[in-house]
Amino acid sequence: MLSSESAIENAPILSFEIVNAVRSRELQISGARSEDFSDFTGEIHASGSEYLFVGKLSSINASALRKHLPWLNPKAIGLNLSAGVGDRLGLATSGHARAFSKYGQGVLPIFAQQSAREMHRLYRTPQEVMDDVTFGLVESSWQGQIGSDADHLKSIEDIDSCLAAGFSMFTLDPGDSVVRVPTNFDGKLGHLPWGELEDSEASMLGRYVDKQFILEESSRSFTDEQIRRAAFKYSAAVASVVSMYRHLMLKATHEVEVEIAIDETSEVTTPGEHIFIATELKRLGVKWVSFAPRYIDGFEKAIEFKGSIKHLAENLKGHFAIAQALGPYKLSIHTGSDKFSIYSLANEVCKGLLHLKTSGTSYLEALSVCAQHAPELFREIYQSSYDSYAKSRSSYQVSADLNSAPLIGNLRDDDLKELLILEGTRQILHVGYGAALTLQDSTGDFVLRNALQSCLIENKQDYDQAIEHHIGRHLSLLNKST
Ligand SMILES: [Zn+2]
Repeated sequence: MLSSESAIENAPILSFEIVNAVRSRELQISGARSEDFSDFTGEIHASGSEYLFVGKLSSINASALRKHLPWLNPKAIGLNLSAGVGDRLGLATSGHARAFSKYGQGVLPIFAQQSAREMHRLYRTPQEVMDDVTFGLVESSWQGQIGSDADHLKSIEDIDSCLAAGFSMFTLDPGDSVVRVPTNFDGKLGHLPWGELEDSEASMLGRYVDKQFILEESSRSFTDEQIRRAAFKYSAAVASVVSMYRHLMLKATHEVEVEIAIDETSEVTTPGEHIFIATELKRLGVKWVSFAPRYIDGFEKAIEFKGSIKHLAENLKGHFAIAQALGPYKLSIHTGSDKFSIYSLANEVCKGLLHLKTSGTSYLEALSVCAQHAPELFREIYQSSYDSYAKSRSSYQVSADLNSAPLIGNLRDDDLKELLILEGTRQILHVGYGAALTLQDSTGDFVLRNALQSCLIENKQDYDQAIEHHIGRHLSLLNKST
């Protein structure tokens, strides 16, 4: 139960609660005066000397909650150690909040970390994502600071809709503008968008070739060819970030912060490329709190880190030295869930200047509750994910092989949970959400999504507990070296 007593001076004392009834959820507020509910829409009942308000989890009521309980509005969190959690079904936030309350001291939470891709794929608006988080925070009586991450934004339209919904962190992703350098590269740069870059080839080369870039314990210089390659590959991406950034800053009416993410590009980001991108963005006036390069290989969805820990430590150290020298800004680790072997190391290398993103892993926790309580539904979700894997894997780093994945018909109900432990089937389920959750019946309803949400509401305690435990495991390891 959450009280507004301390929120605003002289404000009426109200108690807020989210109640999970069978298959549905509602907002209940109790207070001494019925007129205090005027910001909310619903029914008011007299109850002894008090009044009880009962309303739907509507956008109007979410907005009224954020007015009465101002800490529910996301804020910029700056260079603090932080972790982001995403939620494809709109029911995970109370579990996330419990995990942060219990295991996340020293780690600032970014709730509503949702990529534009996921929102589009699931037909959810940024406002719906934000409202679901608001209700989840009330449900868990959360009273701390929060941020929220409009993740992997690639268009002005997405920036506008996420701004309107109150997101505080904007992850700008210029990945589609990164150009692969051909093997027969001739060094020509005449076609680059020099106007947008407010630059010329000669002055760009003059800033880099044979100049020393001083890092923490080392320095770095570029040859003419190295810088031509970096400029060929990343100049359009730099221009894309600048245009998104300037639009964001022009339109923002609340405090926002920016991350630059190129983690979904096809090639590993070299230290030299990181220096070039950051130097150019700084020259053009872009300010950011975190940067996500593509690190060395080994980051796959939903499973442990598959690469060499030693190489990752060197990789992080190299990028961190640049982030210190050119920022400071945080390093951001995407595809960060389930990599229990790296959190403590990453935090130690980055001295707390770190942001960790986890997302789909909370969906897998939802499926584990489903496997236990609604095995037939779980079988349908698995089958849909299995059937769509060849297509849905294309935008993700995964290595699962359908040939070695079990056929659902061969498994007993008691064995279904195994599919959430085996690496291959975790990945198939993880990337299959788009197909499974948007499967429509003849009336246009999202049948599997609706059934899964009902299952989670009916078993909300189990779901909250599963998320608290799983995200808590991430947070306690992330905290270890602080
Ligand atoms: Zn990413």
